[in-house]
Amino acid sequence: MFDADVLVVGAGPVGAVAAYRMAEMGLDAMLLEGEAEPVEDLRASTIHPPTLEMLAELKVVDSLIEQGIKTPVYHFRERQTGERVAFDFSELGEHTPYPYRLQCEQYKIVRLLVERLQRDFSREVKFSHRVASVAQDDDSVTVTAETPEGTRQFRARYVIASDGGGSAVRKSVGVPFEGMTYPEKFVTFSTDTPLDEYFEGFAGVNYVADEREWASIILTPSGWRVLVPAAGELTNEHLVSDGYKNTVFNNLIGQGESVETHHRTVYRVNQRVAVKYNHGRVILAGDSAHVHNPLGGFGMNSGIHDVWNLTGQLAKILRDGADARSLLDLYDRQRRTIMCRFVQAQTAENKSYMEAGSAVAHARKRQQLEEIAADPDLRHAYLLRQSMLQSRLDEAAIQ
Ligand SMILES: Cc1cc2nc3c(=O)[nH]c(=O)nc-3n(C[C@H](O)[C@H](O)[C@H](O)COP(=O)(O)OP(=O)(O)OC[C@H]3O[C@@H](n4cnc5c(N)ncnc54)[C@H](O)[C@@H]3O)c2cc1C
Repeated sequence: MFDADVLVVGAGPVGAVAAYRMAEMGLDAMLLEGEAEPVEDLRASTIHPPTLEMLAELKVVDSLIEQGIKTPVYHFRERQTGERVAFDFSELGEHTPYPYRLQCEQYKIVRLLVERLQRDFSREVKFSHRVASVAQDDDSVTVTAETPEGTRQFRARYVIASDGGGSAVRKSVGVPFEGMTYPEKFVTFSTDTPLDEYFEGFAGVNYVADEREWASIILTPSGWRVLVPAAGELTNEHLVSDGYKNTVFNNLIGQGESVETHHRTVYRVNQRVAVKYNHGRVILAGDSAHVHNPLGGFGMNSGIHDVWNLTGQLAKILRDGADARSLLDLYDRQRRTIMCRFVQAQTAENKSYMEAGSAVAHARKRQQLEEIAADPDLRHAYLLRQSMLQSRLDEAAIQ
């Protein structure tokens, strides 16, 4: 007796899209979430064009566009001189109906999908269900969860682990998560101070290179989000203090005390990929399968692309009786290859650019970016990669 065909563990953006798409496809899926309600997580704000196309297929994109900010242009800037290289997703109009980055906080995706799962599909989302372990045999997988009613077990044909970077499911299955943790911490501040008034020709998304303190500065519906690195040995308490905030904004705009912030958060950031995404009946997706730095806005997007692929494979397996092993292996090959070849590499490259290492090396990298921006063919190819449209094409070509 099964509780559901598919258990989805974790109602972040990846688990929410997985559960919602399976409900749309008429599959029997149940969503388990450890917290008591959707988490108000501000981490991701950039939604890329192919993800918007997926959300359009789920008929939720219009509501998110209403709650977000369309941002076609982004800049790589030099902090010291203000020089910039601009890229404009509007040039991708022939490839996508959504030629822009939509800036919209990730929790809005989750709230909308969870609300509609309950309203339109009468699917209960099991909050306060924290999964501790999974065990599988040839025919089924059993999840053990701490619930308000005590420890409970749920049995299903498949489990999607979308329980984030610290995934209890991944650990329970014993999957190595190879890679490294950056030595520095990443600190974010959200403010309503109009930062664009302090910089000439500021875009909605700015990657600011500086050898002392790089920054990403992005306009979101909840204000300007500033992300800076900080020495790993500094305590989180210090990094969210007024004194530290004042220093960051003094460096940035020449005044710190007058800047009020409504969020200050410290993150430890990793570059890691699970050695394999499918383990029998347990399949990893999103941050449980891969994590990397946020420069480029690819983490949540690639997690949603994972479950778009995966739920398509599960529909063929569960509805059409297709061979599970070969389709889940294909999911692993397609999505892990894209992750290693593009996302991990591009995020590392973006960070290295912003760190502005040696003057000579940085000048060379900047010249390369300027050459790309000036050449229509190179620029077009670059924009296709940065918008993640290219990785969707590349994924389909992997067999
Ligand atoms: C500063 C910063 C900025 C970022 N900006 C972007 C961006 O602009 N664009 C982008 O694409 N990505 C961005 N990212 C990355 C993005 O936030 C993550 O990739 C994304 O949240 C991953 O989604 P997920 O659903 O896989 O995991 P999560 O969002 O971590 O969700 C996991 C869910 O599982 C639940 N859970 C955890 N453990 C259990 C358990 N044992 N049992 C049940 N439930 C459990 C959690 O409560 C949570 O709800 C950013 C990251 C950072 C740090």
